[in-house]
Parts: sequence; structure tokens; C-alpha cells
Amino acid sequence: MTTVTSARFDGRLLTPGDPGYDAARTIWNAMIDRRPRMIVRAASVTDVVTAVRLARELDLEIGVRCGGHNVAGLAVPADGLMIDLTPLNGVRVDPIRRHARVQGGALLGALDRASQPYGLATTAGNVSHTGVGGLTLGGGMGWLARQHGLACDNVVSYTMVTADGDVVTASRTENPDLYWGLRGGGGNFGIVTDFDFQLHHTGTQTLVAEFDFRAEDAVPVLEGWRDLNAVAPRQATFTADVHSTAIGPIATVGFVWVGDPAQGRRLLPAMRALGRPVAERVTTPSYLELQQRDDTTGGHAYRRYSSAHYLRQFPTAAIEAFLLRGASDLHAGTYLPGVGLQAHGGAIADVADADAAFSLRGTTFEFGAGSRWTEPSEDDPRMAAARTAGAALDPYADGVYVNSLAADEGQRGLRRAYPAVKLARLTALKTVWDPQNIFHLNHNIRPSHA
Ligand SMILES: Cc1cc2nc3c(=O)[nH]c(=O)nc-3n(C[C@H](O)[C@H](O)[C@H](O)COP(=O)(O)OP(=O)(O)OC[C@H]3O[C@@H](n4cnc5c(N)ncnc54)[C@H](O)[C@@H]3O)c2cc1C
Repeated sequence: MTTVTSARFDGRLLTPGDPGYDAARTIWNAMIDRRPRMIVRAASVTDVVTAVRLARELDLEIGVRCGGHNVAGLAVPADGLMIDLTPLNGVRVDPIRRHARVQGGALLGALDRASQPYGLATTAGNVSHTGVGGLTLGGGMGWLARQHGLACDNVVSYTMVTADGDVVTASRTENPDLYWGLRGGGGNFGIVTDFDFQLHHTGTQTLVAEFDFRAEDAVPVLEGWRDLNAVAPRQATFTADVHSTAIGPIATVGFVWVGDPAQGRRLLPAMRALGRPVAERVTTPSYLELQQRDDTTGGHAYRRYSSAHYLRQFPTAAIEAFLLRGASDLHAGTYLPGVGLQAHGGAIADVADADAAFSLRGTTFEFGAGSRWTEPSEDDPRMAAARTAGAALDPYADGVYVNSLAADEGQRGLRRAYPAVKLARLTALKTVWDPQNIFHLNHNIRPSHA
């Protein structure tokens, strides 16, 4: 039997009041202020095993923390045992085999920093302080996905601690069912302590192009941008957003290009022909700079809410709703969220839908409406405005990315993220690997008898 007094950790066991306790339970969304009874800062696979056994022995709810970016704060259990994986942050690159072995608590920046000296990279998200763990287990979208697939499409094998505290490997040849589920099924099946990633020769160069238009002029611009996206090379990931500025709402369209900037520049005349922008920015950050470009300095101090959809089509009526952000006219509305689109397609859609738990590979754009603020008194109106902006795009939606599900979407959210046939297979897998649902602080797939 493992008890608190007998448990020994290579890392640290923290309880309320200990130095480091508050830092370890603080995550990206400042709305989350939960106090675990214990935090195990895991420094080895053995620590993860011991922590799982201890939590079960003491009947404590388990939370698993990597980058702490889940907007609902699922990593932090109130009065439970949080397994903080962040000390397990090592990345070992083999430049000859083009593989990276990444520990389960590493952040994306660590993966990029270890790979880029060799001109290598693999798909990772757009913000360097997001966790490899949560991002990859849900799918993992990034600027390389249209060339090389999602992050989960590039994982060759996983090492995972099970609900019983066993350590197993999942790959195409070992536990292939589990391998299928870990590619998009989230943290439902166990705690991944190592990801083995395939890397690609990407070089170190990129190009970012952005064109700002007044929102009132932007319907034809977005129609043209949407049509260009349909024929864009895979090196280009099209982006668009709408945000408030001192001169009124601005729609920005453009693309991120990973590869030779000279080739990326060939898209610029077509972008410029979309209309008369009020401003234009074309930059050539290094890949490492690109990967930190959306980092939010001090971002962990903000309260957050977001709402998201996958879109297959983006008809003119959806463009109008996108520009309005849930308001009645372009210049009305308070607390309006920023809204954005990022193109999918390319290599993401090359993978057969049945190949992995990740679903909805026919997506053309991911839509997101996100709000951030600091005053708790603004919680309700800010969240309501982001929900309204999301609801305005609902008629055009074809599902949602599981990692973008809002806190309050529950089982309906899961049904939006996975078609019924996938959900049935995920449920069967959950019943095998975690029949008592001890890993339930996630977008939870319930075992069949629960
Ligand atoms: C600023 C920001 C930018 C983002 N950008 C992108 C993006 O570009 N592309 C994209 O695809 N997504 C993006 N996301 C969404 C992101 O993928 C999810 O928020 C994801 O849950 C973050 O993972 P994390 O490890 O940082 O979060 P955490 O909150 O630490 O973990 C989330 C959940 O994942 C599970 N988990 C984490 N690590 C492990 C592990 N090693 N083993 C088992 N379970 C684990 C647990 O269930 C945990 O509750 C972004 C989110 C934010 C806040």
C-alpha cells in the first residue's frame, strides 16, 4: 500500500502553504483558482506511477498538468491530487533518424528549440508555452500541419502510465487500439510520460503576411481570401481575424508561410488584389520567432473564455456573422471578443478519418471567439459576448476541435468533437484502459458502465 508517509518522490510533494504550491496550481486562465490537497511535481516516470497509486489509495481526484493551457482548468483538481508533469520537460533529438523523444510535461518551445538547430521541426501549436501533452493528445494544430499533418499524426509511439500504475507503450504495432485512441482522444486513457515524434526538414525560414481592412469593406475581401485558400500551396496557412481598434473594427486577412520566403511572396499580389487595405505587414521571422509570435507576455494574469467551431464551408452569410461578432451592427456591442480563423486542409485531410480518434479532417477553417479581461465583475458579460459570437457561427459549424471545447459544453461538446462511431470506439477503449474513470478531469469519455 502507498500512503502519504511511505510515498517517496524524486520530485516534490507539495501541500497548501508549501513554497511553490501556489505557482504550481496557477494556470493560464486566471479564472481558475482551485486548491489541490496535494501536488506531486513529478520528476520521473516512477513518480507518476507512485502518484497515481497514492491518489487511488486516498481516493483523491486526479488532475494532470502539462502546459496548463486548458481554458477550463481541467489540470487542477479542487481538493484532489494534481500530477504536475512540468519537471518532466526533456527533449532528445536524433537528427539522423529525425526523431524527437519528448517528455510528457514539456512545452512546445522546448521541442522547437531542440529541433531547429538541425533545421528540423514537427507540427506544434502557435504559442510556445502551450504543453506538448494536452495539445498533442487532442490533435495538435500548427503552422506545419498542412504540410506534415497534426501533431498527433507525427507521434510514432507513446509511453503511458495506466490507471493501475503500469507503464505501457502504444504504437502501430504495440497496443495499436490504444495508439489509435491517444491520437486525438485527449488525456482519457492514462498519463503519457514520453512522446516519440517524427521530425521533418523544414528549414528555419518563414514569411507572415497580414492586410488590414475596415470591417465595413471586408465582405468581398473575405470572400476572395476564402477562394484563394482553396488553391493555396500547403506551405501557406491562411489566417483571418476581426478585432476592435481606435478607428473601428478591423478585419485582418493573410497567411503564414513556412519555407522559403521568396516562394511565399508569390502569393502577395493576389492578397493585395483583394481590396484596398488600410495597412499591410509582411515580415520574415525565423521559425523559432514565428513559434513565439503569439505568446502572451503576462497572459497568465487574464481571465479567459472562448468558443469555437470547425467550418467546412464559409459562405457569405457566415462571413457577415464573422464580421459582426454577435453584435447587431459592426459598430455596436460591448465586450465583443476577438474572432479568428485558421485554415486546415492539406496533409491533415490526407489521413483517413478512421485512422485515429481525431475527427473532422474535412474542416476548412477553425473559428474561435476569445475574450480576456481582468475584472471578475466582467465575467458574465464577457463570457456571454463570446458565447453570442460563437452562437452566430453555429448554423455554419460542422463540429469542434476537442481542445477548443469550452468548460460548459459537457457531453454535448464531446458529441460535437467526435462522430457517434468514433465516440463508441473511444468508449470501448476507455472501458478497457480506465474502467473506473479515474482520469476524468478531461473532456471525459465515460466508460460504458459509468
Ligand atoms: C494560448 C493558447 C494557444 C493555443 N494554441 C493552440 C494551437 O496553436 N494549436 C492547438 O492545437 N491547440 C492550441 N491551444 C489549445 C490547446 O491545445 C489546449 O488548451 C490543450 O489542452 C493545452 O494543453 P496543455 O498541456 O497546455 O494544458 P493542460 O491544462 O496542462 O492539460 C490539459 C489536459 O490535457 C491532459 N494532459 C496534458 N498532458 C498530459 C499528459 N502528458 N498525459 C496525459 N494527459 C495529459 C489532461 O487531461 C489535462 O487536463 C491553445 C491554447 C491556448 C490557451
